[in-house]
Amino acid sequence: MTGTRTGRRGSTTAWADIDLHALGRNLERLRRGLSPGQAVLGVVKADAYGHGAGPVGRALQRFGIDGLVVADMGEGIALRRAGVTTPILVIDPPLPSQLRLPALHRLDATVTSVAEACVLATAASRAGRTVDVHVRVNTGFAGFGAPRAGLTDVLAAVAATPALRLEGLYTHLSGAYGSHEDGGVAELERFGEAVEAARAAGLLPPLVHALSSAALGRPLLTGAAARIGCTAVRCGAALFGIRMVDGDLPLPLAPVMSVKTRVTRVTALEPGDVADYAAASAAPRRTPVAVLPFGFSDGHHLHRLAGGVLLIRGRPAPVLGRPFMSGLLADLTDIPGVQPGDEAVLIGRQGDHRITVEDIAARSGLRPSAVTLLGSRVVRRYRSSAAGKDQPE
Ligand SMILES: *Cc1c(COP(=O)(O)O)cnc(C)c1O
Repeated sequence: MTGTRTGRRGSTTAWADIDLHALGRNLERLRRGLSPGQAVLGVVKADAYGHGAGPVGRALQRFGIDGLVVADMGEGIALRRAGVTTPILVIDPPLPSQLRLPALHRLDATVTSVAEACVLATAASRAGRTVDVHVRVNTGFAGFGAPRAGLTDVLAAVAATPALRLEGLYTHLSGAYGSHEDGGVAELERFGEAVEAARAAGLLPPLVHALSSAALGRPLLTGAAARIGCTAVRCGAALFGIRMVDGDLPLPLAPVMSVKTRVTRVTALEPGDVADYAAASAAPRRTPVAVLPFGFSDGHHLHRLAGGVLLIRGRPAPVLGRPFMSGLLADLTDIPGVQPGDEAVLIGRQGDHRITVEDIAARSGLRPSAVTLLGSRVVRRYRSSAAGKDQPE
C-alpha cells in the first residue's frame, strides 16, 4: 500500500516504526504556536520524507490538516489514489505533457508565468473543470518562481481565466535554513513587496504563504509574516519532529520515525582481519562483532556515517568500519551476551539511550530531512494510538 515491501512479519529484517499519534501531536503543537486562523499545509513530498505518503497523508487529513503539498504531479496522483481528498498543491509547474492532470485529479497547480497560466487554462477548460492555482514568486532562491517584476501580470492572467481560480501566492525562504538569526528576513521583505503589489492590484488570493519548518522558530520571520498578511504555513520536517536547524522551533516536537533491525550473526574479527574493504580497517585485537542486515542501500546516511553507533541490549554499539550495501558490523566489545535475533536500534530509543535524526545528520553531514529517506527493503509499520497499538496500514 505504501510502495514498500510488506512481507510477512517473520520475514522482516529491517523496519521503520511510524508513530502517527506523534504526527498528530506535532500538528497540534504547531497549530498552537501559530496565530489563530492560520492554515497549515503539510509537505509530504518524497514519500512524506520517507514516512510513507499514503498513510501519512490520510492521517494528516484525519487530524484536520488544511492541505497537503507535494513536489510533482505523480506524487499528487498517488495521494488521490491512496484516498486523500484534501487540497493538494503541486510545487513544480506541470510539464507540457502533464497539463490535463491538475483538472483530472483535482490537484492545485503552481504557476510562475503568463504562458503557463494560458496553457493550463486551455487544458482545464477542455477537461471541463476549474483548477485552483497558487502563483509562486521568486524572492531570491534558486530561480524558483515568477520574477517579481512580472508578478501582477501572472496573477491577472490567472484571475481573468474562468477555468483557473487564484487560490494562493507563495515563496520559499532559503535563508531560514542558515545559521544567521536574520536569515530569510530579506527574502521575506521582498515577498512582502510582492504581496503589497498583489493587494494594490486587487489580486490577493486567500492563501498567502512563505514560512516552512525552519522559519517557524524565528520570531523575526513569524512577526514579519504576520505583518505582511500571510494566512498559511507550509511545513514538512516539523510535522515529522525533525529539526532542520540547531535550536529551531521552541515547540516540543516528537520524532515520528524509529528505525530498527535484528542481529543476524554474532562473530569475531581476529587480529589482522579487516572490517570493510579497506586494509586500514584491520582489527588490532580479537573483536566480537554483530552482523546486522542494514546497509547503505537501506539508509543512505550510513554511506557517510563515521563514528556512528547503534543500540543493542540498551547499550551503544559503535559501527565498525564502513557499512556495506546491505549490512554493517557493530563492535560488541562492551556488550556481552548478544544473540542472533536481538533487536538493534538505528534511530530511536532503547533503554536509557536515544539516537536522533539530528545526531545522524550532524555526524554524516546530511540535511536532517535526508536521514529518514530509507531504501525499499525497510518495511514501514504504522501505529496510531498513544498506547502504540499496531495499525494494519
Ligand atoms: C520542501 C519544501 C517545504 C517544506 O520544508 P520543511 O523544511 O520540510 O518544512 C516547503 N516549501 C517548499 C517550496 C518546499 O520545497
